[in-house]
Amino acid sequence: MSGLHVIVVGGGIGGLALAGMLRRSGVEVTVLERAAELRIGLGLTFWPNAAMALRSFGQDMFDAVRTVAQPFDQARMETAAGHTVTTIDLSRWRRQYGVAGLGVTHSDLVRALGEVSGVPVRFGAEVVSVTEDGKVSLADGETLSADVVVGADGVGSAVRKAMLPPGHAEPRGPSMSGWQGVAPGGSPEFPGFDVVFGPTGVCGILGLPGERTYWFMQAPADAPPGGDGWSETVRELVQATPEDLMWRDSARDRAPGRAWGRGRVTLLGDAAHPVLPTVGQGACLAVEDAGVLARRLTAAGDPVAALRRYEADRYERVTKTYKRARGLRRMQQLTPALRNPLVSAVPDGLLGRMFTESAEPIAEFR
Ligand SMILES: Cc1cc2nc3c(=O)[nH]c(=O)nc-3n(C[C@H](O)[C@H](O)[C@H](O)COP(=O)(O)OP(=O)(O)OC[C@H]3O[C@@H](n4cnc5c(N)ncnc54)[C@H](O)[C@@H]3O)c2cc1C
Repeated sequence: MSGLHVIVVGGGIGGLALAGMLRRSGVEVTVLERAAELRIGLGLTFWPNAAMALRSFGQDMFDAVRTVAQPFDQARMETAAGHTVTTIDLSRWRRQYGVAGLGVTHSDLVRALGEVSGVPVRFGAEVVSVTEDGKVSLADGETLSADVVVGADGVGSAVRKAMLPPGHAEPRGPSMSGWQGVAPGGSPEFPGFDVVFGPTGVCGILGLPGERTYWFMQAPADAPPGGDGWSETVRELVQATPEDLMWRDSARDRAPGRAWGRGRVTLLGDAAHPVLPTVGQGACLAVEDAGVLARRLTAAGDPVAALRRYEADRYERVTKTYKRARGLRRMQQLTPALRNPLVSAVPDGLLGRMFTESAEPIAEFR
């Protein structure tokens, strides 16, 4: 729909994907980003649901991500003793969609989406409040207005706080914490995405381009990374990681609600529905949201009605992924004595489906 002006609050993965998608449909877009410059982040799994949403808006959007990512065709779960519990073959996706899993750093992904979007980001622009008629106030006192405002400003979203009643804005608190790092050297032992069980949860291991390996390990606040009980391979990976490429992180989630905004304002990605990283879907869902929102906004009709349609269309999908991520976390955090027999007793196909169902592209992007 030409003539539409959209302000996107937040130049992260979801915000930049949306900016690129809207620009390709002739919409004027302004991206406001609080940070002074690009945020540095570590590894991510990027799945076909997000890749296909990008491709629906242009092969160049998909290629931009693929060129900074490492493809993989299988996922594997392994006990601390090195016994493979299950291997999930993902090559069907490559045959069907041209892509299976991708390993990418958060910063490379943001940079690639920023470049391909073709929309300049206004860095250092912190949004402090938004009104339902599309007015946005910045911390420096400037005000802007647009036909539509999208809060893509992450888990602590200022747009969400302005739109939803108190109690609907706060995440549940840190519900998963751990260490993450990037070790130099690719690992031939981990040709895909591996989940290795350990004493405090799991360690996810992912190959990155440039012969690097990303890992994320669940651990309580006081536990050092890769201590007793983790497999030798995991401990070696931690030891090989330089200190400046290893840090603690925590992830919070929130049960998705049905209301994401009011009037000319809506939310997207973590601002709307943060999910735990156990299914590796937070960023992918943000890109999928962006695709659906861009489609609804550029279909003929009233933009306010388009926002409500987008929210209704996304509710079931994001709720399912939120629940799956929580379910996997419960399973991963059982003591090894309970977890290993339980996981071994689950049929391979079912375990695979728990893991891959959220990553299957939705019908409108297949
Ligand atoms: C340990 C860990 C592992 C993960 N692994 C995966 C994975 O494998 N796969 C996956 O898909 N996801 C993964 N995730 C989740 C993923 O990182 C997030 O879901 C994703 O970054 C959300 O994208 P977003 O664009 O919604 O928000 P963000 O990436 O949080 O971007 C929000 C942007 O808004 C800006 N901003 C915030 N407030 C304001 C404001 N007031 N004004 C202007 N700008 C503002 C921020 O600076 C930021 O740039 C993981 C998360 C963690 C913690």
